[in-house]
Amino acid sequence: MTQLRVTVWGENVHEQTSKAVGAIYPTGMHTTIADALNQDARIKARTATLQETDHGLTDTVLADTDVLTWWGHAAHGKVDDKIVDRVQKRVLEGMGLIVLHSGHHSKIFKRLMGTSCDLLWREAGERERVWVCNPGHAITQGLPPQFVLEHEEMYGEPFGIPNPDEVLLIGWFQGGEVFRSGVTYRRGAGKIFYFQPGHETYPTYHEPLVQQILRNAVLWAKPEGVFKTGCQHISADKAPEPITASGASVH
Ligand code: ZN
Repeated sequence: MTQLRVTVWGENVHEQTSKAVGAIYPTGMHTTIADALNQDARIKARTATLQETDHGLTDTVLADTDVLTWWGHAAHGKVDDKIVDRVQKRVLEGMGLIVLHSGHHSKIFKRLMGTSCDLLWREAGERERVWVCNPGHAITQGLPPQFVLEHEEMYGEPFGIPNPDEVLLIGWFQGGEVFRSGVTYRRGAGKIFYFQPGHETYPTYHEPLVQQILRNAVLWAKPEGVFKTGCQHISADKAPEPITASGASVH
């Protein structure tokens, strides 16, 4: 069986600087997420972090990645533009991308969306109820009609994203706001899923249903083919049909 090659990218800053976050994720959020993905034998997940050379995303690593997941927050600005270019190119060619929680403001997500990706937010430890909009989608398989996360950061509308291909999840928060919590896009040949839950001070990535969504999402985002970037010139003598029409340049 060929396993899906997943790279779980973690900014890995809060885990080092906050005792509270370090207590929830002693080996980093990226490790918790990779472990959750590896529960499915069809997936082979490894991790990469901001602190590594090329943020762990060398050409070799990306060439060897079918789906990349991205969690960032405090250090979006520290991500080198050349790595953003590299990831964008791979997405356009067909690599899947799962953008998590505060990754909504990451350079790569804003680049691929082309919009502000701004939203409403509040950190009050409130309850979130996540509603499934399309139980027939690959990403929502195994989920109940709705489920509750006891504590999450509120992300609310308006969310400055382009109209998604699909809205799969809607989050309702205790304070009354709602949010498009799970949305899909295609950019080039690459499939993208944005998933809102995952604030660092709550144990969201330990939640079994959240882990199920992450596994479903990487399996959904697997490349279907490769569409290499770059324009190709083809000379007249290489055209599939002889060019004999009375075009302006033909004498
Ligand atoms: Zn957050």
